[in-house]
Amino acid sequence: MTKKVLNASGMKKANQKKILDMLRVESVSRAELSRRTGLTRAGISGIIEELMSKGVVVEGETMPNKVGRSSVELKLNKERYLIAGISVSRDYCTVGISDFCCEILEYQKVEFNKDHDDPYTVLKKITQIIREMLSGKETALLGIGIISPGTLDIAKGRILSPPNFERWHNLNICDFFWNEFQCPVVLENNAKAIAISEKYCGAAGTARNYVEIVVDNGIGGGIVVDGQLYKGSFGSSSEFGHTTVDMNGELCSCGNRGCAELYANIPNIIAYAQEFDSHVESWEEIVDRAETGDIEMKRVLEREIECLVAVIVSAVNIIDPEVVFIGGDILYRPDLLISGIQARVDRRIMRKAINGIEIRPSGIVKHTRLIPCVNLLLSYVIDNFSLFEDEQCSEREF
Ligand SMILES: [Zn+2]
Repeated sequence: MTKKVLNASGMKKANQKKILDMLRVESVSRAELSRRTGLTRAGISGIIEELMSKGVVVEGETMPNKVGRSSVELKLNKERYLIAGISVSRDYCTVGISDFCCEILEYQKVEFNKDHDDPYTVLKKITQIIREMLSGKETALLGIGIISPGTLDIAKGRILSPPNFERWHNLNICDFFWNEFQCPVVLENNAKAIAISEKYCGAAGTARNYVEIVVDNGIGGGIVVDGQLYKGSFGSSSEFGHTTVDMNGELCSCGNRGCAELYANIPNIIAYAQEFDSHVESWEEIVDRAETGDIEMKRVLEREIECLVAVIVSAVNIIDPEVVFIGGDILYRPDLLISGIQARVDRRIMRKAINGIEIRPSGIVKHTRLIPCVNLLLSYVIDNFSLFEDEQCSEREF
């Protein structure tokens, strides 16, 4: 008997999650939800009624449908909750709050010196900023999503040992914010969080299987399989930056030789460009000069393309995705980069005779750090709580 009740409850939760997942991407009518989920109209109506009674879903516009009748679009109630996001980088954190639809309402940058400043002083400052952002608002805080460079212990909410970030090692950042706010707090690797937010807030559209490669001060990424982030056995999947591009290359901090990150992350591209012109200061400058025909900077861009192609061809041959997204600070005026990668990947992947692969820039162009944070928290809550129970904040989840 107990088992039967649990199954029914599990089924209800799974159906609720399916519906919320769809409404996070776009407004959908009851009839369309029924068609997409395979649930009966009555089943859909029951779940929607419950979600509406909790204020999570609201009715939107009435739209004419194909058979001449009209249907009401359903959408998430953006005013239902606020979500806080914290993106940790080595020299600054970005902190902000969004509405329930992950639209960023306010944000602020907190700069610090990673070698001198006490991380707890930084976290206290972030706490104060979040409190100021929430003050005067009656909407409840749903939780806090945090992204950080790895390595991380996701399950325990701990920053483990990101290179060049020693003062933050072994910091239980989720515990800290749980103690301050008593709400769900979740941590994820920054690049993986960007990858999964492509599905809800970016350009993934109907793609169920895709790869996202994020290039900025490091190279990371995420693999999404059947709409879910692939996490691997120990949470250390998708380390695209540590794909070998030169087996006789330099020793990488990971222990491998000739990793892509040693050549193709932004600081290393700039270092390479400085071999031609010591005054080069930024990736933006390299792109601007390559665009205007500067031979040397075109060569730098070419090497960047070659490195990323080596990574992407391996990824496509192994994973067989529908699309590859490129994200991160590398996306400054990305036309030359993307078209260069696309042309080479088209020629080099195994499956070219069957199907090509589209290389696309990430669809998250604004708040590229904070949207993955708040999206992460929303996914976590939808995955772990049924109907946003009032008691959801009563115990620490880690
Ligand atoms: Zn490496």
